[in-house]
Amino acid sequence: MGLLDGKVCLVTGASRGIGAATVERFAQEGAIVYANARTPGDFDDLCAELSEKYNTTVKAVYFDVRDEAEAKKAVLRIRKETGRLDVLVNNAGIMKDALVGMISRDLMMEIYDTNVFGVMNMIQLASKVMMFQKRGSIINLSSIVGLEGNPGQLVYSATKGAVAAMTKTAAKELASQGIRVNAVAPGMIDTDMFRSIGEEKMKEHMANIRMGRLGTPEEVADVILFLASDLSRYTTGEIIGVNGSAMI
Ligand code: NAP
Repeated sequence: MGLLDGKVCLVTGASRGIGAATVERFAQEGAIVYANARTPGDFDDLCAELSEKYNTTVKAVYFDVRDEAEAKKAVLRIRKETGRLDVLVNNAGIMKDALVGMISRDLMMEIYDTNVFGVMNMIQLASKVMMFQKRGSIINLSSIVGLEGNPGQLVYSATKGAVAAMTKTAAKELASQGIRVNAVAPGMIDTDMFRSIGEEKMKEHMANIRMGRLGTPEEVADVILFLASDLSRYTTGEIIGVNGSAMI
């Protein structure tokens, strides 16, 4: 028996990094996974490979989380095909750094659109389906910098702080409907996003991780799996750090 046997799960931003690792981990545990990406392409082949490897169904579902209409279509499609939605992982996110004096309105809008409004919209769409079932688990991706702040990341850290706040609020509001809402707050995880800060800054950050290494996407996926599964059935409104005791 897998931890997610037969559960219908939607993971946003699954083309790489933490999202891709989560899709594979969920498939390994028997979930029916809808893996979201923005650009139709090779992803269909990967989904077919994972379906065969883990003897389950992994399907690509293409939309941009900023596009409300397309996101709605995707959730309706999932409900039509399976009759339910058990787990939503709000993983899609972008990170762009700028010092306080250099932040433009466009930059604010761009990062908020994906990291905050996209997540809020997905929570609304998924919870409407989950309310009918009287159960469901929503997992959001916050960040250590959303809880502690970081120079050069005023906008990004604010969006991830917003994710933590909306996790707590949604958890309180949806608990009576049987819907749990939790978040993970990763530290420094070895993905394209973290590597985009450049070698020098990476070395600086790594010196501040007491466990002495970066985290892997799979290590974050394991905590997401815990929150998605019934192992965490009495846990809601929590923000779980996955950071190897990082100092920021
Ligand atoms: P990543 O490697 O940059 O991957 C980000 C994923 O999000 C990609 O699949 C990307 O798709 C997708 N995405 C971005 N904007 C999207 C949109 N508008 N609609 C749909 N998909 C979109 O990042 P990651 O490191 O795996 O991060 C995943 C999540 O963890 C993010 O929310 C991030 O903020 C959070 N996080 C990461 C770290 C870290 O150290 N890596 C730390 C704390 C929190 P494309 O391939 O189309 O761009």
